[in-house]
Amino acid sequence: MERATVTVNGVVQSVGFRPFVYRTAVDLGLQGTVRNRGDAGVLVELEGDPDDIDAFLAELRENDPPLARVERVETDREPADEPSFSTFGIVASAASEGGGGTIPPDTAMCEACVADMRDPDSRYHDYWATGCVDCGPRFTIVESVPYDRPTTSMAAFPLCEDCREEYEDPTDRRYHAQAIACPDCGPTLRYLPGELVGTIDGSNTAPPAEGRDPFPDRRGSRGASGSDDPIREAATALADGDVVVVKGIGGAHIACDGTNPEAVARLRDRTDRTGKPFAVMAPDVESVESIAAPTPAERRSLTSPRRPILLLDRRAESRLAADVTPGLHTVGVMLPYSGVHHLLFDHVDVPLVMTSANLPGQPMLTHNDAIAAGLRDVADGFLLHDRRIVARCDDSVARFVDGERRLVRRSRGFTPSSVPISDAGEAHVLGLGPELDVVGGVLADGECHLTQYVGDVDTLETFEQLTTAVDHLLDITGRDRPGIVAHDAHPAFRTTEYARRLADDDASPVERTVAVQHHHAHAASVLAEHDRRGAIAITVDGVGYGPDGTVWGGEVLDATRAAYERVGGLAPVPMPGGDRATRYPARMLAGLLAHREDLETLLEAHATFPNGSEERRLVRQQLAAGVNTPTTTSAGRFLDAVSALVGVCDERTYEGEPAMRLEALATRGTPRSVEPPSATADGRRVLDTPRLLDRLLELAEGSSRADVAATAQDTLARGLA
Ligand SMILES: [Zn+2]
Ligand SMILES: [Zn+2]
Repeated sequence: MERATVTVNGVVQSVGFRPFVYRTAVDLGLQGTVRNRGDAGVLVELEGDPDDIDAFLAELRENDPPLARVERVETDREPADEPSFSTFGIVASAASEGGGGTIPPDTAMCEACVADMRDPDSRYHDYWATGCVDCGPRFTIVESVPYDRPTTSMAAFPLCEDCREEYEDPTDRRYHAQAIACPDCGPTLRYLPGELVGTIDGSNTAPPAEGRDPFPDRRGSRGASGSDDPIREAATALADGDVVVVKGIGGAHIACDGTNPEAVARLRDRTDRTGKPFAVMAPDVESVESIAAPTPAERRSLTSPRRPILLLDRRAESRLAADVTPGLHTVGVMLPYSGVHHLLFDHVDVPLVMTSANLPGQPMLTHNDAIAAGLRDVADGFLLHDRRIVARCDDSVARFVDGERRLVRRSRGFTPSSVPISDAGEAHVLGLGPELDVVGGVLADGECHLTQYVGDVDTLETFEQLTTAVDHLLDITGRDRPGIVAHDAHPAFRTTEYARRLADDDASPVERTVAVQHHHAHAASVLAEHDRRGAIAITVDGVGYGPDGTVWGGEVLDATRAAYERVGGLAPVPMPGGDRATRYPARMLAGLLAHREDLETLLEAHATFPNGSEERRLVRQQLAAGVNTPTTTSAGRFLDAVSALVGVCDERTYEGEPAMRLEALATRGTPRSVEPPSATADGRRVLDTPRLLDRLLELAEGSSRADVAATAQDTLARGLA
């Protein structure tokens, strides 16, 4: 007989790890105990046959629960004569050692829970909010550690006897599942037709102990029709072409029938999203295959517990309305991940447009009263529940490139899991980022925890989302407030100002601020992600503040994590009208053609200005005098100019639109072999984009627009490489 003491570290608490250990040990006939340790690990004491202990350790590595992440296993083994245990048991953790622990991300409802929901004999039949230790919300419902019912928004729903029994049974899948709930004791779901939104009071903003029905004054006559089936009512509205708000796990979506062009047009019109591509949620993989052709790896990603929105190439012919993704060749697709989605698709067999429920320039709405008040002119109906969302969390977006998944937006399904940073030593840093598409980060003990996607923080209100997200991250990771704050080097960004304020505040622990050049930050984050010390980094970006006062973007940097040298990139070109040149690509075309004597003729032939010839004249004056004409090496602005040249985008209505439309056109073309023209700027070799545009103009004479687009992308890539 042997005795083994096994310490397991990683994401092993609140993920069903102890029940897993229990089942494995009992199956192998081992005796001993398992308990949570205060440092977020799990301690297992085992007694039994050495072969069985070997088998146990192998199981630990290979068959751990889906949400667990076993990072380190330390084993201490010794021969034993006398057994000290007669059974195997789960030992409760003392309150003092319950702290710490890495809270796992929110994950899609697992197959077992979906099966419970579908089983007419189960007490979870048709109940949307069921979950277990393997699935469901975590990050978005927890206020602080230790992760325990009282620290979550589920505290508002005291357990019924049946739930309590399962919660306390170590052999049950819902053993210590903090979000356990059933129709008798858990959150409720209601459908409210839009004309009745005035009847909603300010529910759901109450503290967690007071979770309530989303429409308390409508109890007893649950739906408009008096039916008791909010899901069916929402489904009927969607089938009628209505716009319906659906509250999910970390936020709400504005939804409509993705195959109904009128419904999609209505949604666009009411949300003032004229050209922005919408993501869709498809009922199942077969339905995804009717609108795109996912590879096996993409299918695995779609069905993974993280359930990201995956950008897939759209089929040319599909029942999806063309206007879901105007002018683009890709479509963002996801599969149902919450119980509400699964039940909704019992009655809806078409892909639904699911776009984030927010007002222009505002963060996604999460509280019922804010949703109802903010979207009363947008939605025809509201499908809402009364489980409070503590932390909002947008859908993650991913795309496969050369067979590998690349994250475009890291949020639901990933947050708050950390990225290991080797050689970080004692560094304890808060990272605030720039001003657009922001994610905050906290580096501590060699781990970088990232907040959910926060988005643009250029208004007071949205900036508050960043500080709230950072505070929540610190609360749930149990980390101290860092003494160093890193921020984008742009002197006027809100993040810069905030960092300065923290450093000046005597009450704050911040002692030092570090300004990081925008593209060095991009390069360093890729180095860290791939555990590299240094590399020649190519950044193909829109805009970032350059230390020389110009707008950087397409850069070649010789970078380490701590320093960089700008060794190449794109040629500096004028941006007539500054920000206006970002909105109207024709201005960038003028900027790149500024060296041409026949500028007027070229612009007349190729550029569309909103104010016609008057604006064309003004742009030429701006270029000649250098008035309000900053200099940029932006890769985005070069692609904007090409998009104007080939006529795919006259006005940018959302970030990245011209380049995305250009990419869509380029997929239909063949790149011509063009030698990337080079030049010298401030002693570094650069891709001469004005001369490249000359070549593209020549090409445009005899080639298709698609070929010009493909050649532009191809030559840009080769020129930077
Ligand atoms: Zn489950
Ligand atoms: Zn219950």
